[in-house]
Amino acid sequence: MDSKAQQTDLEWISYPPNGWEEISGLDENYTPIRTYQVCQVMEPNQNNWLRTNWIEKGNAQRIFVELKFTLRDCNSLPGVVGTCKETFNLYYQETDSEVGRSLRENQYVKIDTIAADESFTQGDLGERKMKLNTEVRIIGPLTRRGFYLAFQDVGACIALVSVKVYYKKCWSIIENLATFPDTVTGSEFSSLVEVEGVCVNDAEEEADNSPKMHCSAEGEWLVPIGKCICKAGFHQKGDACEPCGRGFYKSSSQDLQCSRCPAHSFNDREGSWRCDCEDGYYRALSDPASVACTRPPSAPQNLVYNINQTTVSLEWSPPADTGGRNDVTYRVVCRRCGWEPEECVPCGLNVGYSPAQSGLVDTYVSIVDLLAHANYTFEVEAVNGVSDLSRTQRLFAAVSIATGQVIKEKVQQRSIQLSWQEPRQPNGVITEYEIKYYEKDQKDRVYSTVRSKSTSATVNNLKPSTAYVFQIRAFTEAGYGTYGPRLEITTKEEATGSIQSSTTHFFRFTCAFNYASFDSVSPLRSDPILCYLYIYIFIMVIYIYHVKFPGTKTYIDPETYEDPNRAVHQFAKELDASCIKIERVIGAGEFGEVCSGRLKLPGKRDVSVAIKTLKVGYTEKQRRDFLCEASIMGQFDHPNVVHLEGVVTRGKPVMIVIEYMENGSLDGFLRKHDGQFTVIQLVGMLRGIAAGMRYLSDMGYVHRDLAARNILVNSNLVCKVSDFGLSRVIDDDPEAVYTTTGGKIPVRWTAPEAIQYRKFTSASDVWSYGIVMWEVMSYGERPYWDMSNQDVIKAIDEGYRLPAPMDCPPGLHQLMLDCWQKDRAERPKFDQIVGILDKMIRNPNTLKTPLGTCTSPLLDQSTPDFTAFRSVGEWLEAIKMERYRDNFTAAGYSSLESVARMSIE
Ligand code: AMP
Repeated sequence: MDSKAQQTDLEWISYPPNGWEEISGLDENYTPIRTYQVCQVMEPNQNNWLRTNWIEKGNAQRIFVELKFTLRDCNSLPGVVGTCKETFNLYYQETDSEVGRSLRENQYVKIDTIAADESFTQGDLGERKMKLNTEVRIIGPLTRRGFYLAFQDVGACIALVSVKVYYKKCWSIIENLATFPDTVTGSEFSSLVEVEGVCVNDAEEEADNSPKMHCSAEGEWLVPIGKCICKAGFHQKGDACEPCGRGFYKSSSQDLQCSRCPAHSFNDREGSWRCDCEDGYYRALSDPASVACTRPPSAPQNLVYNINQTTVSLEWSPPADTGGRNDVTYRVVCRRCGWEPEECVPCGLNVGYSPAQSGLVDTYVSIVDLLAHANYTFEVEAVNGVSDLSRTQRLFAAVSIATGQVIKEKVQQRSIQLSWQEPRQPNGVITEYEIKYYEKDQKDRVYSTVRSKSTSATVNNLKPSTAYVFQIRAFTEAGYGTYGPRLEITTKEEATGSIQSSTTHFFRFTCAFNYASFDSVSPLRSDPILCYLYIYIFIMVIYIYHVKFPGTKTYIDPETYEDPNRAVHQFAKELDASCIKIERVIGAGEFGEVCSGRLKLPGKRDVSVAIKTLKVGYTEKQRRDFLCEASIMGQFDHPNVVHLEGVVTRGKPVMIVIEYMENGSLDGFLRKHDGQFTVIQLVGMLRGIAAGMRYLSDMGYVHRDLAARNILVNSNLVCKVSDFGLSRVIDDDPEAVYTTTGGKIPVRWTAPEAIQYRKFTSASDVWSYGIVMWEVMSYGERPYWDMSNQDVIKAIDEGYRLPAPMDCPPGLHQLMLDCWQKDRAERPKFDQIVGILDKMIRNPNTLKTPLGTCTSPLLDQSTPDFTAFRSVGEWLEAIKMERYRDNFTAAGYSSLESVARMSIE
């Protein structure tokens, strides 16, 4: 609703009739407008009401009311002292429908008293200088269908120039390929409205990662989580999915880009998820779409055979063409044949294959248990992953072999005795056999022969360990028959009688310890026990050196003490209970009440203290845990770390006495003083916390629960780190929740590696520090607002980071983003953080956030992707900043790495 938009009478209700009056006027641009004015400044006890027409609120829950008005300065009106006022009141009434024109004051809820920032005097009017005030108020959450606004004048001179009523919404957008509709903001300032996105055409939701966004109360989309991805056959172009072009494909939604069809494949359609194979080429079922189409291999080459009685060995070379694949294996087909080639039958199951009949990886096979004196044909085929898909003719290498007689042998070192069967169909009476043999590996095959009248013979004078090849033929009256198959036999090894001694390896234990400063013990180096003893002594020396000599002070975990009482008394002073005066209860701790009081030590001024007490009826473990905090705190001495005055363990109640921090914990303190500090004051607080953390990390102490609620503030706004303890202290943190890695973790404050695999380090404390910065700059706003912990974990994993809080200087937000680097090695150290904040405090100009300032692309929330550029010049050109090329060079930024490391200054 905008009163300015209406040219005719507004016809709001005015009561009493002599109060507010509708008047036509001109606005600052001399446009005609309808205004309401009242100026009963002379009469006391004015109570003039003006009510708007009914305003239907639609879906809105949080309504903004913008008033433009002028207000007359009472001092400029003579004779009005005591009656003239300079404010008016704004009210509203919620109803489900219009309620008529009577006006009942008690039904209205007050929104605010409105005062003018600038009132005007007669003189101003004379010069026609209108001092127009603009005030905006927010009402909500509204629950009824509509409402009225009402203006109560109590005696001021006001012209209500315009009234505008509006609500905010997040405008429909496309993010991560999901469309998010127009969304009306939530009812509270800090509430986020979670909106599910709908995937754009040809996109689908990523598995377990449906797209969501959050509409903030200010009408901004925040925290995108999840995403849609283009379906198979489509790729992303801007905010849409486009089909892959011809000759391209995308096999899965997970792939980012369309790819060109691999070799021997093609497609002639758009939007393909795969390419078809050319004729004669195939794709095996297990082949991904990205590999080339292939074909069966050619035949094996150079097939040779060797017969040993009823065993045939085949050997061959790989095929000339593997078909484009590297999964070539071989299979053998065996057929027994009659005299005619076509009389072949499969060998059947009585024949054995070694290592196998098919799936052979190596280029050899032995076929055993063949029949003697039979004809066989062997085909050796090379096959690959697509052979079975192909209908083309099989290609193989083949041999036909006739097996010979069964020969038995007795092998010695220098002689071999052979015996054989008489051939089944000898060509006449056999009078003699001839045995031909030669040394297998001899190049110029020199044959020797032995003759025998019977079916056995002994061949002597052979060499030991040597392979010989034998062939036998029979002699009849008709002459010599053909030689039988070749038979390969190796003579036995020659016995040497020497015993080969195996080498014995001794692994010598070496004491890898640097003796440089222990020369006197060098002779003992080889004795492991003494070696350990000296390591032990050395560690003790280091330990004593560290503990006893300040300067290299290191935090000592009180849990390493067997007796926890010893730890407390090593680090905390035992106080006499009579020195402590408890005054009042200020809070509730895990183990009992927290009180404020005074501590008066003999010879010293009394000081304000906080006293933590251990409730009666405690167990021994509770007492130990309670005092553990003192054992830790007592080791620290730094102006930004809460100081331990001492403990009372020898009386009851058991107490821990700490310096008093007047303003309590930082989160509550900031919320109480929302918007009341200057940026420099806030940065001063942050600097203090960083200095405290630098000290703790230098000591080797990892806090694990750094958050504004665990920082205390004193009366001088000095912030000090507090809440020390072992992991159980985190367990007591109301923010800590159980995670899948075990143990409780304050998710919103904790670095991802600490959540995922409990990697707590000073670098994870730096992450938490970044969150504390955000809490401070937003005056105690809850990090990630009302998002669930699960959504926070997911959003962080997907690269989302908290945006800059309102009015936060970009340099500070950049520092937060640096603390939230995923790679913990990239995060700044506390020492650097202190340095950066010091610089900002010294140069307050860097903390100014003038409106409309153009932020450098370097400081953009997302680090620019430099990988796409080869040089600084190329990058500058891409962001239309090439005119600064010389400035970059002059400042020494010659490489993209150095640009990426640039800081805000
Ligand atoms: P704690 O058990 O340390 O969380 O303390 C409980 C509450 O007591 C805190 O939230 C503070 O409000 C208050 N408190 C603790 N220590 C101090 C202190 N040194 N000075 C003032 N208030 C304190």
